[in-house]
Amino acid sequence: MLSRILGKFSKDMGIDLGTANTLVYVKDKGIVINEPSIVAINLRTDQILGVGEDAKKMVGKTPPHIVAIRPLKQGVISDFEVTEKMLKHFIEKVHRETYAFLPRPRVVIGIPMDVTEVERKAVEDATMSAGAREVYLIEEPLAASIGARLPIHEATGYMVVDIGGGTTDIAIISLGGIVTKRSLRVAGDQFNENIIAYVRENMNVLIGERMAEELKIRIGSVYELDETMEYKIQGRDMITGLPKEVIVNDVQVRSAMRRTMRLILENVKATIEEAPPEIVADILKKGILLTGGGALIRGIDRILYEETKIPIHVMDDPMTAVVRGTGIILEDIDSLRDALIDHEDELPPQ
Ligand code: ADP
Ligand code: MG
Repeated sequence: MLSRILGKFSKDMGIDLGTANTLVYVKDKGIVINEPSIVAINLRTDQILGVGEDAKKMVGKTPPHIVAIRPLKQGVISDFEVTEKMLKHFIEKVHRETYAFLPRPRVVIGIPMDVTEVERKAVEDATMSAGAREVYLIEEPLAASIGARLPIHEATGYMVVDIGGGTTDIAIISLGGIVTKRSLRVAGDQFNENIIAYVRENMNVLIGERMAEELKIRIGSVYELDETMEYKIQGRDMITGLPKEVIVNDVQVRSAMRRTMRLILENVKATIEEAPPEIVADILKKGILLTGGGALIRGIDRILYEETKIPIHVMDDPMTAVVRGTGIILEDIDSLRDALIDHEDELPPQ
């Protein structure tokens, strides 16, 4: 009863704890944080030097005693302590700015599909110690489909492919739960690495991760484009060791990205093959929902359609799908409770 009353006044939060980006949604305010999941740490003092945007600026430029860590890089929570610090930093930032005098919030967090029980517990603990009153966890593809306002509670199968930074999550959803799933440790980061390797091997130029990502976003594609694109990049000439500028075109970037794209396609097809036949019939009718930053790659809908012959829907604003989903859950926690993980035994007082 008390928690019901408090609930009316506190500013509940939804969080997308992504491998590349963390987003925070506050009830009645919308998305208040959208920053890279990066923490810069001084190894000598263990002190945090920056989180999010501030830490991203330091990537690739740090002296040896400073590291810029992406604690969720591999999709699973690979560096737990740092994840916890990052989460606290963001929650406290919102708390300070938004509701210093309000009761502690309820928090819904979207987490990667493959995290272990121990990791789940740790995310919960970190969120509680950052000031939450209650914590609800939800698997990201489920949150994304709620963000897309799919009627996931119906007895109809939906397929979601979420291509993020560290992982591609492929999920088939029906009756509010995940029926079949696959999570690959291959997504946007891998495309960047492919581009770095291509430029090194074919042009003898060394480029960093940020330059590779810029190239991918500016001219990257996975299906032949109608007109050619070019982009000038700066790196280091591997022969002279000096800075060098080269022009790269879309054909080259596409060729660099091909193998990773193939891996994603094969896994999408394999997931469909594992699904129950009735659900496959639903997916054929409803199509596949494409989300995450990877949904923005040029031609990704065309190549997926060509390979599966299933209609592809690219979610609008795909990088905010999960956090918008957590926002919708906040509005209606009671009716969407089934989608949340492991909460049967922790229902708040009615
Ligand atoms: P996560 O959920 O793992 O945090 P996101 O859904 O935020 O990941 O997606 C981040 C990934 O999307 C990064 O690898 C980034 O390079 C990639 N990305 C962002 N915008 C684009 C774009 N326009 N084209 C291609 N890839 C993009
Ligand atoms: Mg994500």
